[in-house]
Amino acid sequence: MPIRHGLAGLALLAPLAAADPDWRQIKAEALDTLVELVRLDTSQPDGNEILAARLLKSKLDREGLASEIFESEPGRASLVARVSGNGSKRPLLLLGHLDVVAVERDEWSFDPFEGAIRDGILYARGSSDDKGVVAGSFHVLLELHRQKVPLDRDVIFLGVADEEAGGTLGITYMLQRHGDKIAAEYAINEAGKGVFDRTLDYVRFEIQTAEKTPRRIDLRAAGTSGHGSIPLLDNPIGVLARAVGRLFDHEMPPRLNETTREYFTRLAEISDPDKAAVFRAILSDKPSPEDYERLRALSPVYHSMVRTSISPTILRGGYLKNVIPSEAHATVDIRALPDEDPERLFSLLKQVMAEPAVDLVPHPQTRPSHDPSPLLSDAFKGFEAVLERMYPGVPVLPTMSTGATDSAQLRAAGIHSYGFGPARPEWDLASGIHGKDEYLYVEPFQDYVEILWNVVLEIAGSD
Ligand SMILES: [Zn+2]
Repeated sequence: MPIRHGLAGLALLAPLAAADPDWRQIKAEALDTLVELVRLDTSQPDGNEILAARLLKSKLDREGLASEIFESEPGRASLVARVSGNGSKRPLLLLGHLDVVAVERDEWSFDPFEGAIRDGILYARGSSDDKGVVAGSFHVLLELHRQKVPLDRDVIFLGVADEEAGGTLGITYMLQRHGDKIAAEYAINEAGKGVFDRTLDYVRFEIQTAEKTPRRIDLRAAGTSGHGSIPLLDNPIGVLARAVGRLFDHEMPPRLNETTREYFTRLAEISDPDKAAVFRAILSDKPSPEDYERLRALSPVYHSMVRTSISPTILRGGYLKNVIPSEAHATVDIRALPDEDPERLFSLLKQVMAEPAVDLVPHPQTRPSHDPSPLLSDAFKGFEAVLERMYPGVPVLPTMSTGATDSAQLRAAGIHSYGFGPARPEWDLASGIHGKDEYLYVEPFQDYVEILWNVVLEIAGSD
């Protein structure tokens, strides 16, 4: 019989929202579920998320908690389950994606779908992106159900398909076709994290409150084909190279939003004086171009966080050394600040290229423009309060991802989304995400489950 709290009589005076879960058991269960999940091959482009959705559904069925599977296409499944509150506040959504990126098996030191654990580290595709978040969110929901925790908000678990391809068959489908099932005031999704040092002590926590949006473009130059011995002014390779070069050289103007302003403000407080001076310079009224160069020298990530960025990634053209081809192609990976208007951006880029013969063709835009999630919300303050309680003195920073997640669609739909997941080592913040030997530290993963539980109670619990 678990002891809920020391003095039963106290409950009459001050009912405790937080039950007292058996953390050893829950953490073991969450790890088991995570290993079960990574053993299911839900890699893109096929996804087959139905495998993961069915696994989770069968666990919920056993516990008597209703859930529903929605298929946008055969096999492309998302799972929804809900624990009800008293309805005095709008729901909290816990989101994770069930799909993973494809693997190049030959590159791996482990079977990517075996779930090998060595020295406290789980090596598997999806271990850190994003099945840790899925397993953690799932077990928080399950425990709310088991403990019958009194809640002001419904808490909804959503495991979605297709995040890695932009979310069209997952979060976008769910918002458009089953929006009533997942309507919420706040969401907690991937992309934020704790950061730990060599002794597994936390050095900071990052809550993702904003992200850039992919606005990739293809460029196509057409011209007259001919013999290489007779130069032609409309040689598509030369024309395209000039256009790509101008885009590469073009620096979009720096711009801070609420998230990045607060990020650099807090970063300055915990950085050594030299770095802090750089952060404070770009936060000042009139930062100089040199200040931004110094920021870039500290990290290319900081550089990308303050502007819409332009990276040429593919060049194609020509097939024989003595033939001028009739076409040449390029792809440019553009990552826009979250509120950047795409049409205005593309017309600006055409001006920058200054090559009328080069066509600009935007890729399909799966991630909508949106406003960052507010920092003065109950959700963000909930994270701050819980982390300060559990890890006093460890700084908490709001961050803007340079990559994209399903939070773009949530934010565009008016759901304030906050990214938080299992912690990563400070010497390898990407932890092999999308690469070979993707991994997750088990103990920080299990800490994450407990942190998430407390955050959910802080945001959704009845007091
Ligand atoms: Zn992900």
